[in-house]
Amino acid sequence: MCPLSQSFSGCRFAERCDKAVTLCYESVPSWVEINTDHSVKCHLFNQLQHPVSEQAVSVAQITQPPRYSPLDKLLDVQNLKVHFPIHSGLLKQVSGYVKAVDGVSLSISSGKTLALVGESGCGKTTVGKSILQLIPVTAGSIQFNGMELTKLSPQELRKGRSDYQIIFQDPYSSLNPKMRIFEILKEGMDALGIDKYDTVHRSESLTNIPISSTEARIDELLQQVNLPAEAKWRYPHEFSGGQRQRIAIARALSVNPKLLICDEPTSALDVSVQAQILNLLSKLQRNFGLAYLFITHNISVVEYLADEVAVMYLGRIVEKGTVTEVLNDAKHPYTQALLSAVPTINPQLDEEEIELKGELPSLNHTPSGCYFHPRCSKAMAICQQSYPEMTTFSETHSTHCYLYEHPVSKAVI
Ligand code: SF4
Ligand code: SF4
Repeated sequence: MCPLSQSFSGCRFAERCDKAVTLCYESVPSWVEINTDHSVKCHLFNQLQHPVSEQAVSVAQITQPPRYSPLDKLLDVQNLKVHFPIHSGLLKQVSGYVKAVDGVSLSISSGKTLALVGESGCGKTTVGKSILQLIPVTAGSIQFNGMELTKLSPQELRKGRSDYQIIFQDPYSSLNPKMRIFEILKEGMDALGIDKYDTVHRSESLTNIPISSTEARIDELLQQVNLPAEAKWRYPHEFSGGQRQRIAIARALSVNPKLLICDEPTSALDVSVQAQILNLLSKLQRNFGLAYLFITHNISVVEYLADEVAVMYLGRIVEKGTVTEVLNDAKHPYTQALLSAVPTINPQLDEEEIELKGELPSLNHTPSGCYFHPRCSKAMAICQQSYPEMTTFSETHSTHCYLYEHPVSKAVI
């Protein structure tokens, strides 16, 4: 953002606008009336000065990553369980378990994005952390590149940690405020014994420049996340939220990972900055073939960035499929409710919101049968009795719901 003290000879947004033309720097755009209730100050709409190009005014100027196609799995998680014991009484005996993750299976191919969505407290972050072995796994298998992570020793895990990295939600607390950016980026490389330079992860524009120092590698990392080289001598507090998240991404990239777990990386940022970070992640995925597990509660992000989506409710995945399958033909009532709650700026496209009854139940008192039945408007008698098996609709699309196993004519609760 420009300082408020700056003076402008043209459009104030020109320096940040990817559609700016010479005229934008030379003259201030005047109001253009789109219709009686809608006006805009932008040269693109002033047809007398700058004829409108359909392509130029397209709001979705984002190059979509290639859609999902099942390739070799980089990450394959089967029946993952993470249960935390509840201690109570004088002797602190185990009186129960919080089943934060209860039988989750998912897979991601190289260069693809799986979005894990659901309400806060449903266990999404626990899935991400347990895959990276940051918290102990109770049961299940986590295969990364054919290697079983749950069976590795701490030394072996440390050795492989450069292959999978995590980007946290809060860029303010994820960077050490006492370290300059140079030290922050160097620390990760040194800790994991990463060579200063890896030809696979070089920017195309730098392929002919010899790399001889850590500083050059750090300059390159900063360039990859669209920050100037001099940023390396500054401290985290000197940057905005979006810039800090770019630094966090550069730190993750510094060890040349194959998989990035992105835990709500844009939810603490302004909307305009969110778009920049998503574009950056999309560009890095195309350049380096990174795989993303993208943890989010924002369905719009899913639509933009993901190839596949898994919907999580109370520690279990209730529906998964390609983005097209799940967003266009959601089967599970919970997914349908989440999608109906997405706001749209076009009132004609606004569908009626499906209201979810009550709050998300506690993970240590999960309901009997289908976990969603106390809040489900389509619940049947059988839904209280046992958890529904998986019903598949295609090679990639499946859900757990009795609506697709039994006739809907069953007695409604
Ligand atoms: S295209 Fe419109 S918004 Fe962009 S710089 Fe030009 S006048 Fe400003
Ligand atoms: S199994 Fe029953 S309660 Fe669960 S989502 Fe389906 S209809 Fe609703």
